[in-house]
Amino acid sequence: MPRVAYVNGRYVQHISATVHIEDRGFQFADGVYEVVSIRKQRLIDLEMHLDRLNRSLLELQVPWPTSRRVFRFILKEVIQRNRVANGSVYIQITRGVANRDFAYSKNLKPSIIIYTRKTRQDTLETANVGYKVISKPDIRWKRCDIKTVSLLPAVMAKQAAVEAGAVEAWLVNKQGMVTEGTSSNAWIVTLNDELITRHVDNEILSGVTRNSVLKLAQKLNLVFVERAFSLNEAIHAKEAFCTSSTALVKPVIEIDNKKIGKGKVGPITKILIENYLSYMDTHHEAY
Ligand code: PMP
Repeated sequence: MPRVAYVNGRYVQHISATVHIEDRGFQFADGVYEVVSIRKQRLIDLEMHLDRLNRSLLELQVPWPTSRRVFRFILKEVIQRNRVANGSVYIQITRGVANRDFAYSKNLKPSIIIYTRKTRQDTLETANVGYKVISKPDIRWKRCDIKTVSLLPAVMAKQAAVEAGAVEAWLVNKQGMVTEGTSSNAWIVTLNDELITRHVDNEILSGVTRNSVLKLAQKLNLVFVERAFSLNEAIHAKEAFCTSSTALVKPVIEIDNKKIGKGKVGPITKILIENYLSYMDTHHEAY
C-alpha cells in the first residue's frame, strides 16, 4: 500500500508529495511543526500538541489554515489512510507561497503538510537501554520556545553526536547551563534524589513529554524542581535522561564520555519509564 501524505488540501502519494519553490518554509524556514507519537492506535497527548502548535502559529502571526476540528479530522484521516498503529505523525505549517521577500503580506494562505511514519514503539526492555550524549555550545536563536522548522544548529549538533557514537547532544549556554537536547528535554537526578529539569523560558521548547513526565512525577510523589543545571552538575548527577515524543523517556548513562552515577540506568529513571509507558497505553485518544 503506497504511503499517503496530505499537502495543501490534497491526499497525495508520499513519493510525489511536493511544495512550491517559493514556499516561505523552504526559503526562510518561516513555519512551525509538531510531531505526535502514535502508539497502539492512540495519538499521545494530541491536545497538548495542538495547543503548542496554536501558540507557535500565534507567535509567528501565521493564521490557522483550518478550524481545529477540521484539522484534527485531516490528521486522523492521514493516519488511517496509512494504517499506522505505531509511529508518528509529522505536521508542518508554513506562512505560504509568495514572491521572495523577507517582509510578508498578511493575506498569504498558509501551507500545510502532514505525513506519517511507522516505527516500532518502545517496550519496557528496549526503553531500559542507556545511551551516551555529548555536550555542544547552544548556538540557537533566542526564541527556542517556538517550534519552528529553523533547525540548523540542532542538525549540526545532532550530527556531531551521532559521529561521536552518541544519540543526542545536550546544548550548553554561555553561562555553562544545559538548556536542552537538540530534539529532547534534559533531566538529571541529584545525589539527594531530586528530579531536575530546566524551567520553561525562551531558551527551551516546552516539551509535551516533559510536561507529562512532570505530572507523573507529582503523582508518584517524587521530589522535583524546575531549574537550570550546569553541565558539571549533570556529569556528577546520580542519573540523567532525555524526554521527547519520539524518544519517550531515554536513559543517559554517559555525558562527554564520563559515566553518570554507576553508568547504568538508575532507579528513578526506571520508574519514570515504566509509568510513562503505561500512561501512553491508557490515557489517550484512539483515532
Ligand atoms: N526540545 C526540542 C528542541 C525539541 O525539538 C523537542 C522535540 N520536538 C523537545 C524538546 C521535546 O518535545 P516533545 O516532548 O514535545 O516532543
